[in-house]
Amino acid sequence: MPAPLKVALVGIGKIAVDQHVPAINASDDWELAATVSRHGTVDGVPSFTDFDTMLAERPDIPVISLCLPPVPRYRYAQAALMAGRHVMLEKPPGATLSEVHALDALATEKALTLYATWHSREATAVDAARTWLSDKTITRCHITWREDVRKWHPGQDWVFEPGGMGVFDPGINALSILTAILPMPVHLTAATLEFPANRDTPIAAQLTFSDNVSAEFDWRQTGPQTWDIEVETDKGPMALRMGGNRLELGGTHLTGQDSIMGEYPALYARMAELVTTGARDVDLAPMVHVADAMTLGRRITVDPFHF
Ligand code: NAP
Repeated sequence: MPAPLKVALVGIGKIAVDQHVPAINASDDWELAATVSRHGTVDGVPSFTDFDTMLAERPDIPVISLCLPPVPRYRYAQAALMAGRHVMLEKPPGATLSEVHALDALATEKALTLYATWHSREATAVDAARTWLSDKTITRCHITWREDVRKWHPGQDWVFEPGGMGVFDPGINALSILTAILPMPVHLTAATLEFPANRDTPIAAQLTFSDNVSAEFDWRQTGPQTWDIEVETDKGPMALRMGGNRLELGGTHLTGQDSIMGEYPALYARMAELVTTGARDVDLAPMVHVADAMTLGRRITVDPFHF
């Protein structure tokens, strides 16, 4: 068996602890060789508080996985590529489309892997949904993505700061699935964005796309959370529930499970494959829809939001 790939995890916060560390530790392909974080550490793993110091002192680590929020991420990704390291980006891959294009060009120039991950595309039922829809005519598609920002982003003010994307932070997960499963491309035609009076990003959004596709995202849902994509076709209805992890045909459960725990192991397996084969994977289709919504969306002001 080949030696595991060494990876440095940067930004030891909620998603690093909840998903990245367990996925890396469970894989024979990977060794968590260092962390970089101003406050966070992982037991038993060498830790750095400064990224440039880690790059200088650990030339043996070929892969950097960036779990920072999108706004600070670009500088780290650029420095890692300049230092000859392969880079894995959390979603959304950047604060703007053009900065991710710049990273993609740099990775190409340096012949390094850049992987813009979309964890929801690795949900267990997404491939089955794509296959089932591939020879159907879609007559309607509606996304309902309602979750509790206080549960998933406790105290994280960056989601409401410019570049934090607001409700599009989870909404882009739905769009990553949509752009993976539909047999035809769609484009945004209208949007309404609800901005809390005291915040810079939306807390809710309603989107209308071409081809009778629509979406509602809301971050104010308490109690049961909803991550559904319901599709009507010429051969009957299909529903992807639990964020792409459960597939129903005609109301009957066909495949999948009510768990998201397989998504990050699949991302790291894909990253190992990309590094081994010298490939890149940077698909910005989900983020184009978010940028379009921010461009075209009608803004309305709603109640202030406090964590
Ligand atoms: P987080 O816990 O708020 O941030 C992760 C870490 O990034 C922080 O602990 C912090 O570590 C570092 N960081 C924050 N701001 C920084 C800055 N300005 N400069 C340098 N480092 C900074 O966020 P998260 O929830 O893990 O989300 C991170 C990314 O993962 C986001 O893109 C998010 O969309 C994605 N994601 C999150 C979830 C979720 O459920 N929360 C799920 C899937 C994907 P130090 O202070 O220790 O440096």
